[in-house]
Amino acid sequence: MNNCIFCKIIGGEIPSERFYEDDRMIIVKDIEPKAKLHYLAIPKRHYKLLREMTDSDREDLGYILQTVAEQAENLGLKNGYRLVINQGDDAGQTVFHLHIHILGGQTMDFPQL
Ligand code: 5GP
Ligand code: ZN
Repeated sequence: MNNCIFCKIIGGEIPSERFYEDDRMIIVKDIEPKAKLHYLAIPKRHYKLLREMTDSDREDLGYILQTVAEQAENLGLKNGYRLVINQGDDAGQTVFHLHIHILGGQTMDFPQL
């Protein structure tokens, strides 16, 4: 856990552009944006994968989704956005601390799911 990039961002050891923070989560700008607007919603509690979720993590996840929806307008996403959670190698997950990508600021023309 000590080597986790996102734990370091949460702890302030690695700087980030923070748009939202409370006692359970943060929303930061992705360092390599894959859309015009690209944020990461990150729970403060460290867990790698959805399958490792505890009951408290499960509560955090619902809370995070609700907070993202509440913050969408502040994030410049009033026209819509896409949420992505990569899980494991086939999905291309690179940071093993659960996080939700928030993508928007443009039409999400690819991939059309
Ligand atoms: P994953 O591929 O695991 O779903 O997503 C990890 C995301 O974290 C990538 O989009 C990557 O650009 C982002 N990322 C990696 N390192 C940092 C960092 O130090 N700061 C920020 N803000 N984002 C990062
Ligand atoms: Zn972590």
